[in-house]
Amino acid sequence: MTETSAPVFDRVAIVGIGLIGSSLARALRQYGVARVVVCADRSEAACAKALDLGIVDEAMVDPGAAVRGADAVILCTPVGAYAAVAETIAPHLKPGAVISDVGSVKQAAVRDIGPVLPGGVHFVPAHPVAGTEHSGPEAGFAELFQGRWCIVTPPPGTDAAAVQRVTALWSGVGSRVEVMEPSRHDRILAITSHLPHLIAYTIVGTAADLEEETKSAVIQFSAGGFRDFTRIAASDPIMWRDIFLNNREAVLEILQRFTEDLTALQRAIRWGEGEVLEEHFTKTRAIRRGIIDARQA
Ligand code: NAP
Repeated sequence: MTETSAPVFDRVAIVGIGLIGSSLARALRQYGVARVVVCADRSEAACAKALDLGIVDEAMVDPGAAVRGADAVILCTPVGAYAAVAETIAPHLKPGAVISDVGSVKQAAVRDIGPVLPGGVHFVPAHPVAGTEHSGPEAGFAELFQGRWCIVTPPPGTDAAAVQRVTALWSGVGSRVEVMEPSRHDRILAITSHLPHLIAYTIVGTAADLEEETKSAVIQFSAGGFRDFTRIAASDPIMWRDIFLNNREAVLEILQRFTEDLTALQRAIRWGEGEVLEEHFTKTRAIRRGIIDARQA
């Protein structure tokens, strides 16, 4: 568990109190990273729930009002909402405030948020690589970021002190922080996260069609691997729509390579090339061991 001696920020405003926003709100308070946490959410019900759960000091529908006087503002909405949210909050930001986000795509965050912010505030995009397939304020928990990576992607020329404070915020809630270029982040996440989700959405869709057409028992016998895909494919549709639309180039590039590799395996199966399959499966098994060794299992 992480305990910070002095808060990194006095007042933090979170825009979008869903899974990630509410987990961050809980963690900021639990680990003493912020003194006051306020939130904005377009849903009245989500605001009421956040207050009810006692995870924020104030909650309101108007993001402009929520960010007033905040030392840090963290956007926790789907990436597709960034441009509109940034425009709404821009006139209300405190001079010197640090603006960050948690979006799963970073070049689009830089593209959509950076240009509309006023001078004198510091924009430091970030992505906590932690999550579940659940959504909404009740789904969050303070420990979500413990031991997980947070990738910070400051555009060139970003104020070093602001980067330092965002790093301290994520370390404060238990994350390990890595700083990298937004484009590098998007390429890495395309293979580690975005492609696996696309595959899961595809497999589950194919299986559902098959079940309907052939009245087969796909769901009944789902424990044979399929079940794990259904968990991933249960992730929020809006969030994932926005990820694919906003990381298009990197996802299409990796999908092209994946398709070629899949074709090679398809060929090995067709021609009975057992040694090709065995060699491939042995290689991938070693990757799993590497993930366990890196404590990311
Ligand atoms: P979530 O639970 O669905 O929460 C998103 C919140 O944003 C909801 O309160 C939602 O309100 C609000 N919102 C949606 N559209 C909006 C709009 N147009 N304007 C203002 N508010 C809007 O989603 P989440 O999982 O926390 O994801 C939030 C962000 O974290 C995304 O950018 C995602 O890429 C990133 N992220 C997610 C994960 C993960 O595993 N889930 C991991 C790392 C990063 P409504 O309920 O009214 O729609």
